[in-house]
Amino acid sequence: MRADDNLTVERPTFVTHLECSQTGEHYPADRVHNLSRAGKPLLVRYDLGGVRKALTKDALAARPPDFWRYRELLPVRQVKDIVSLGEAMTPLVRMPRLERELGGAEIVVKDEGRLPTGSFKARGLALAVSMAKALGIEHMAMPTNGNAGAALAAYASRAGIRTTIFCPDDTPEVNISEIALQGAAVYRVNGLIDDCGKIVGEGKAKVGWFDTSTLKEPYRIEGKKTMGLELAEQLSWDVPDVIFYPTGGGTGLIGMWKAFAELEAIGFIGSKRPRMVAVQAAGCAPMVKAYDDGVEHAPRWENAHTIASGIRVPQAVGDFLILRAVRESGGFAIAVSDDAIEAAVNEVARREGFLMCPEGGATYAAYKQSLVDGRVSRTERVVMFNCASGLKYPMPRIERRLDRSGPIDYAAL
Ligand SMILES: *Cc1c(COP(=O)(O)O)cnc(C)c1O
Repeated sequence: MRADDNLTVERPTFVTHLECSQTGEHYPADRVHNLSRAGKPLLVRYDLGGVRKALTKDALAARPPDFWRYRELLPVRQVKDIVSLGEAMTPLVRMPRLERELGGAEIVVKDEGRLPTGSFKARGLALAVSMAKALGIEHMAMPTNGNAGAALAAYASRAGIRTTIFCPDDTPEVNISEIALQGAAVYRVNGLIDDCGKIVGEGKAKVGWFDTSTLKEPYRIEGKKTMGLELAEQLSWDVPDVIFYPTGGGTGLIGMWKAFAELEAIGFIGSKRPRMVAVQAAGCAPMVKAYDDGVEHAPRWENAHTIASGIRVPQAVGDFLILRAVRESGGFAIAVSDDAIEAAVNEVARREGFLMCPEGGATYAAYKQSLVDGRVSRTERVVMFNCASGLKYPMPRIERRLDRSGPIDYAAL
């Protein structure tokens, strides 16, 4: 095995077609697509019988540890189109002190902050940009709360594709800077992410930008799907009892749900599924409201606000797919306050030395809340997602100083 085998060795690919997630209508593979004619996300379909014959667990185990090892379950046909920045498999980190303190079962965090550009948006955008390269797309545009734009800018620059990116004007400063540094034209917009999305839609109609918005592009789900593939492989082809996922557009939750179905179809896992828990912020919780109301679609959440900017998504085009996965899995949707998020980030950092992003903190806050209200039991094995490096977010300023010219009271330090 060579370290770059996944990026240099051609492997058989199995995409047969794309399918409307609502109507089931088929669309040809290897063409440029956005939403289906029904205005819904397209899902990539594979010849899973073929994958089953071509791929074994042993063959997979012998490949280098990055997500391109799952090529047979990914849409990129030729290695020349793979755009990679070193997508390491992200570690599962146990939280033993928190486990003891909560008297619970195993708490495991999948730390997605280790990926290129510091967030799991790299998974989706690596795939979206690789497919854009394969399909000859020249100019990609995107509305973003920050991390997706950073990942798009990085991968697109590497592929030689132009990018234009729109952020709400209160997007964290670091995101705007990293997007610009990585070669995109970035604009602050006086609105929320869906207002930015409208601008992208108009630019698409007027000047032919490719719309890379969450779920309006079919391949970001395939990239996020690798979280589910990776997680199952890391657990020796098993799944946890419960997954806490911070849900904005829901790409990751929908992607993992798809991953588990595909893994069962190729005989790698059985029929057990984790209970999928969609975690949102109390200031922007359209999925929680729709879940509680028992409806399939979530109306726009007005005046959305939360410090967890990655999950500040007032309306999601894949709402019904999120809700379907949550309900089919026996999971639920839960909202946590910004105060609880902040307290969670502090607690995990102080107790475990693990700096979460606010969205990751939201999953821990939701876990604690679920233990209290009994929706999750102490015997269940839980995986939560820390989706970005905590270092990308504003941190409290520390004012404590030491004057080295005076006497130092060491015992008091
Ligand atoms: C985008 C993002 C999310 C939400 O992910 P989705 O799969 O789109 O729901 C959560 N946390 C962070 C840090 C993000 O950047």
